[in-house]
Amino acid sequence: MGVKVASSIGRSAVRTLREAFQGRITMPEDSGYDAARQVWNGSIDRHPSIILTPAHVADVQAAVRFGRESDLLVAVRSGGHSVAGHSTCDGGLVIDLSGMKGIRVDPAGRRVHVQSGVLWGELDPETTALGLAVTGGLVSSTGVAGFTLGGGLGWLQRKHGLACDNLMLAEVVTAEGVIVTASHEVNAELLWGLRGGGGNFGIVTTFEFRVHPVEEAVLSGARFYPAERAPEILGFFREYQAEGPEELTLGAVLRLAPPAPFLPESVHGRPVVALAGIYAGTEAESILRSLDSLGPPIADLFVPRPYTQMQTLLDRGNEPGAQNYWKAEYLSGLPEEAVSSLLEHLASISSPTSDIKLMQLGGKVAAVGEDDTAYAHRSAPLIVNINARWGDARDSGRHVAWTRSLWDAMQPWSAGGSYTNFMSEDEAGRVPSSYGSHKYERLAGLKRQYDPTNFFRLNHNVKPAGDPE
Ligand code: FAD
Repeated sequence: MGVKVASSIGRSAVRTLREAFQGRITMPEDSGYDAARQVWNGSIDRHPSIILTPAHVADVQAAVRFGRESDLLVAVRSGGHSVAGHSTCDGGLVIDLSGMKGIRVDPAGRRVHVQSGVLWGELDPETTALGLAVTGGLVSSTGVAGFTLGGGLGWLQRKHGLACDNLMLAEVVTAEGVIVTASHEVNAELLWGLRGGGGNFGIVTTFEFRVHPVEEAVLSGARFYPAERAPEILGFFREYQAEGPEELTLGAVLRLAPPAPFLPESVHGRPVVALAGIYAGTEAESILRSLDSLGPPIADLFVPRPYTQMQTLLDRGNEPGAQNYWKAEYLSGLPEEAVSSLLEHLASISSPTSDIKLMQLGGKVAAVGEDDTAYAHRSAPLIVNINARWGDARDSGRHVAWTRSLWDAMQPWSAGGSYTNFMSEDEAGRVPSSYGSHKYERLAGLKRQYDPTNFFRLNHNVKPAGDPE
């Protein structure tokens, strides 16, 4: 499949499309083009030939057929947060789902129906208004679609599973422009693939999630400690992964203290470790007592608060436009030597806005059978996500080098692969290990069934089985 540039897209094809397409069509000569082509990661600066923003499912079908008939490279975008830059392209077509924002909560059936353009910051208030939630992203500007299709790690994961574990039904527009429903009853293998296999099989237009009761106020937030205490704090984090209740999902963040008003000025710019998370259970006092056993923190933001407030706590510092390079790995454990490697790299961290995040898995993440979803590495107790973030594109080399160096240093504790949603553009070769060979083959078979020409290739790509490429 070739990549065509603006001048070579048939003008008559665009004219014909305009007659039926009810959404927005944006081309390089249009005034809104620069805004429309932006994605979250400022390191990704691409110029598609045409951006189609469907108003409804029939428009999605028309966009797919247009891409196929015009022989264009196609990128699919919902929230635009792909760190790897998969949701845009140079010279091709972007199908931008941001115009499809429907949300319908069914409290009696404990379900929510969500269209693909919805962001977590739009969905969480709708479900929590009815005392319900599904595991969602840590930053509210993240799209429900890409997040869920890759797996979906969030603060409720140990209690309620990943977002993809709660995906009950999906409506999909295939590479042929045909609408297919996937659920446990129909096309169950496709549902299996959509639960972690990413955007490989078609464009999901609607997601149906199982939702769970969530308290009006949940004990959540973060406590900050000086980095000198990191071995002890991370030791606690490790023990709590193994022995803590599944209602508690904790993350640990290592970074330089930001100049935030809740942190004393004396620590601004100094290395700190934070424990962050949610306890969605009834024994809050006992959790607080355990945290208190660590002694006084530099700052304590761990309080009962609305779930939606916790879901926006990390928004600051994660605004779009910064340069980003991420690398992640599932870990089999966090022994003292691993902590030492983390601390050495914290000491040499190359940017005040970069951080190292560790997240507890286990609980309901591990309770789902490894073969039940495409999402893999369920038995890993932890994941490390190394997030380099900086302002000037000319400095990229040293920030990328720092990220790679830490990732290399963590390899002795690798559980065997990475999480596609946290992978960068240069990691295409790691897609098979992020699923494991058995699962990758199963995904390749599904890809062959639903997208034999690899029309949807701008993603953490699974090649159709038998494809010599
Ligand atoms: P997009 O860039 O729009 O899409 C990414 C890819 O998903 C596309 O290239 C396409 O292949 C596929 N896709 C998107 N929409 C569709 C669709 N409707 N149908 C079919 N395929 C589609 N991940 C976590 O697990 N937990 C987190 O807490 C978390 N926090 C994050 C915070 C930030 C600030 C960022 C940048 C990322 C975070 N991520 C997190 C990673 C995130 O899950 C992925 O980047 C995910 O792809 C984002 O989804 P999106 O819809 O915003 O992205």
